[in-house]
Amino acid sequence: MTDKLAIHGGPKAVTADTAEQWQPPVEEQKRAICDLIDQQYLSGAGAGVGKEFEDRFGAYVGAKYCLSTDHGSNAIMAGLFAVGVGPGDEVIVPDLGYIGSYTGVIHLGARPVFCDVDPRTGLTDPADVEKRITAKTKAILPIHLNGYVCDMDGLFRLREKYGLAIVHDAAHAHPAGWDGVKVGALADVACFSMQGADPFGKPVPAGEGGINTTNNREYYERILIFCHLHRTGIAEELTNPQYRMLGNQGLGLKWRAHPFTMALGLISMDSVEYRNERRLHYREQLYDALRDVPGVRLPESYPKAQDGGFYGGLRMFYAAEQLGGLSSDKYMKALQAEGVPVTRYRDQPEHMRPLIQRGFDLYGGGRGPILPGTYSYKKGDFPVTEALVGGQLMRLPAYVEPADGVIEQIVAGYKKVAEGYESLL
Ligand SMILES: *Cc1c(COP(=O)(O)O)cnc(C)c1O
Repeated sequence: MTDKLAIHGGPKAVTADTAEQWQPPVEEQKRAICDLIDQQYLSGAGAGVGKEFEDRFGAYVGAKYCLSTDHGSNAIMAGLFAVGVGPGDEVIVPDLGYIGSYTGVIHLGARPVFCDVDPRTGLTDPADVEKRITAKTKAILPIHLNGYVCDMDGLFRLREKYGLAIVHDAAHAHPAGWDGVKVGALADVACFSMQGADPFGKPVPAGEGGINTTNNREYYERILIFCHLHRTGIAEELTNPQYRMLGNQGLGLKWRAHPFTMALGLISMDSVEYRNERRLHYREQLYDALRDVPGVRLPESYPKAQDGGFYGGLRMFYAAEQLGGLSSDKYMKALQAEGVPVTRYRDQPEHMRPLIQRGFDLYGGGRGPILPGTYSYKKGDFPVTEALVGGQLMRLPAYVEPADGVIEQIVAGYKKVAEGYESLL
């Protein structure tokens, strides 16, 4: 006989402190920022703290080239520009996604085309991507969502077969890799965000910022000219004569990171591996304990994937059929009443957002890549994504240092609800 569910007035399963115990080194951060103020080094790139960060991050992911930007979404737009996305092109992006992932597609005059995700993983499904490829497709933009790595063998096959580029949205996945190679060193360009603060920011957080990495010299130079106006050394860096003649102005956009971001980013780099290892260990413990609990379906990882980063939390799928069809709303409320810090990823699939459904006259006068009438997507077109964002996809905090007893108590909360679900129907 288990205790009465907390939602019916019983005792809570989770009584431990569910707050993250790990804290960022705030005093060190203050010192680093104050040092820059003392030096009045408040602008600049290609030298000093910015170059130090880029060299360190590039070495960390094993990429030949690394450039920082002011935001992750701008890093993605720069990555798309690098591989030659332009007006009239199509870029395939997951419907279980995020606007910052494909906004650069639109502003380059190209069109995002959505694809569904693999039901086993909730990640960009290469089989569905292939169905969406047309003569206009230029690139695939997979998202390693929450740090879970997409099926890169499947995507690389499509890259070869159709001559496409891959621009990774790795905003959640700085430490992640595929078959021993970090995402930042996989073809063609990887894009990262530094948004937020530890411990719940992006995996290398620094307030606001972004990063591009690539092993391709041409792509690197295209990113330099696209958005690195007046970067120290840029004119000497450029080897392509067409780019070199632009001098240190490039194409005029200035999307570099602030030195404060770079200083904070360096401090985040000191703990990125520690935080990732702890999170991996915690995920293993949690998943092992939840594997056979009715109602929980754990996401699979591809055999060559080295998941990492875990921005947004650890994922699990709700299997309502195992609990008599109990709604995901009631299930989550019962878990939360037990003190389980679960949240449901309930949102619209990207194809149902007003921007896509209604289209937008981007430049006025009936011009632009996503004019009204461009898309004919409707509800039901992306069944896997729609089921996941409709309530199946849930997340728990990806703790670095959980308080004593938290894991056991969270698991007890899940078991309690699984045993007492009939009282919720
Ligand atoms: C955070 C994020 C971005 C963009 O990063 P910003 O630095 O906020 O511009 C892109 N894609 C995903 C999936 C993100 O979570």
